Amino acid sequence: MANRRTIVDDALHEYLVEHTVREHPAQTALREATRTQPQAGMQIGPEQAQFLALLVRLMGARRAIEVGVFTGYSALSVALALPDDGYLLACDVSDAYTRVGRPFWEQAGIAHKIDLRLAPAIETLDASLAAGDAGRFDFAFIDADKSNYDAYYERCLALLRPGGLIAIDNVLWGGAVARPASDADTIALQALNAKLHADVRVDVAMVPIGDGVTLARKR
Ligand code: CA
Repeated sequence: MANRRTIVDDALHEYLVEHTVREHPAQTALREATRTQPQAGMQIGPEQAQFLALLVRLMGARRAIEVGVFTGYSALSVALALPDDGYLLACDVSDAYTRVGRPFWEQAGIAHKIDLRLAPAIETLDASLAAGDAGRFDFAFIDADKSNYDAYYERCLALLRPGGLIAIDNVLWGGAVARPASDADTIALQALNAKLHADVRVDVAMVPIGDGVTLARKR
């Protein structure tokens, strides 16, 4: 039936995960290791990571960016989807969180693809731009502090080649974006969603997977 909407409740979500997720053993182990961390809910779900990995493979991406690594599950998932000589510029400020994931990057044999930069991501991205990397990346995943999302988006857009793809996490923000808001994070997400809707530099789709992912393809 056209336009039929399926509400994904917990039971249906469990079915979806059970019937699609294919993890490398290191991915499963890293999810387990993250479960006990404070803020474990910041990790994207395995079905979402698999979706991003599928996009990376579909594009034949070789060079990727991640803004917001947390314990490294999405970086692991993207790096597994990159070719052996692929490159992932991974930006985060937390040594404590990224330290959780690094042994699993080694276990999966993809650690050599990940260039982890422990610094504010804006500094890392600006350094990459200053080094002449504009237009040299295929894919970017933004999943970090929401108040800087627009700054990350602009830098990633400059770093991407035409036809490159940016995936932006948490764009539905638990539904809060559709309601009047007074907190800075929700307001930042509402502003970015409105900007992207009108942004003629990209083709866009807002996908209700996880907490909502916007896909923006650079024209
Ligand atoms: Ca997120």
